[in-house]
Amino acid sequence: MNKIKMTTPVVEMDGDEMTRVLWQWIKEILITPYVDLKTEYYDLGLPNRDATEDAVTVESAEAVKKYGVAVKCATITPNAQRVEEYGLKKMWKSPNGTIRRILDGTVFRAPIIADGITSYIPSWKKPIVIARHAYGDIYNNVEDRASAGESVYLVVCDGDGKELRRKLVHTFESDGMVQGVHNIDGSIVSFAESCFEYALENKLSVWFGAKDTISKTYDHRFKELFNEVYETRYKKKFIDAGICFVYTLIDDVVARVIRSEGGMLWVCKNYDGDVMSDMVATAYGSLGMMSSVLVSPDGKYEYEAAHGTVTRHYYKHLDGETTSTNPIATIFAWTGALAKRGELDGNSALTDFARRLESAAVRTVEEGYMTGDLIPLFKKEGVAPRKLDTRGFLYEIAKRV
Ligand code: NAP
Ligand code: MG
Repeated sequence: MNKIKMTTPVVEMDGDEMTRVLWQWIKEILITPYVDLKTEYYDLGLPNRDATEDAVTVESAEAVKKYGVAVKCATITPNAQRVEEYGLKKMWKSPNGTIRRILDGTVFRAPIIADGITSYIPSWKKPIVIARHAYGDIYNNVEDRASAGESVYLVVCDGDGKELRRKLVHTFESDGMVQGVHNIDGSIVSFAESCFEYALENKLSVWFGAKDTISKTYDHRFKELFNEVYETRYKKKFIDAGICFVYTLIDDVVARVIRSEGGMLWVCKNYDGDVMSDMVATAYGSLGMMSSVLVSPDGKYEYEAAHGTVTRHYYKHLDGETTSTNPIATIFAWTGALAKRGELDGNSALTDFARRLESAAVRTVEEGYMTGDLIPLFKKEGVAPRKLDTRGFLYEIAKRV
């Protein structure tokens, strides 16, 4: 066949360990045979981040601003053990954190559904997509211990440090602790815009929950800003698209989500998103089936798998053993980016190819060919699951493209 041409490059961010190995194999077996691939390549593998003093991460995020679409491989976030393992100059920050700060984006995580892979919650038939606000609350907190006899105040000063207001938090009769958290209107508005845009694009209703009955100023402000953005700019578009926006208490959202059949965008404050995204991912089965996209309020997209570098499999691979690592979430990162590139460039052949590859990957599993992580989750009348090694599975998908 003639390979599909691309007019604009996708920003390609390479990564670490087993996912770096998968990255090459996916390109070799599933993409370059069909697409004349055009990428602007950045090596975010830990050795190159160390060699460039992490400048490569910043440059790659700047490239996303320029080109609008990126695909990212999982990367190591160094800890003390990694500093020793790789002989690093420094404990470099999380690349995802750096990229998110530069793009001011929201992360949307969506499970990939295949018939036969049953969720732990059987009523969940459609994907539940989670949007997590990635600024403030306890993640940028200030906290301290307090001792018996001490008093803690919330003090607000003007730009010159002159005290404007003071509220007593607590007078401690015995030892305890305190915490100060904050958020910013602008960040919440950007978050609301990203969520409503994503919902329109994917035709999903939006469920947002916070605790405004208890937190009458802080959480109430989230509710107020979401309502404002919705009423002034999205209500009509939502009605036309046949989707809705619901605000209710976070406890109520949790109860409703469990009883639902899925198929909504669940918008979460920072902490709720941290916790609930792990619950939802686990309930849908394997981390290898969870995709993720960072969307900036001005419409830049970075696609990736939600899982990490699958370290344990990498060490087996280095020892010469074959692994059975699930490539589906990483394939969907590539297809997400290629489909979006095609959409933005009016290149329908590219978008069609991406959708075809996605359906081939899902069909391979549905027909009983899969990686080891999915075997215990697979239940389908008349189909006995067969475990394949990583490359074998990629070739099985290629047959179905
Ligand atoms: P992980 O790489 O997601 O792996 C955790 C475990 O989940 C694996 O050991 C494996 O279980 C299973 N698993 C995950 N993805 C799989 C797949 N595609 N196929 C089959 N099994 C899969 O998380 P981690 O071990 O906590 O972190 C490893 C490294 O990744 C760390 O250095 C961390 O910093 C980095 N990380 C990066 C990102 C990112 O770039 N977005 C996200 C998270 C973590 P079994 O071993 O039992 O088979
Ligand atoms: Mg978490």
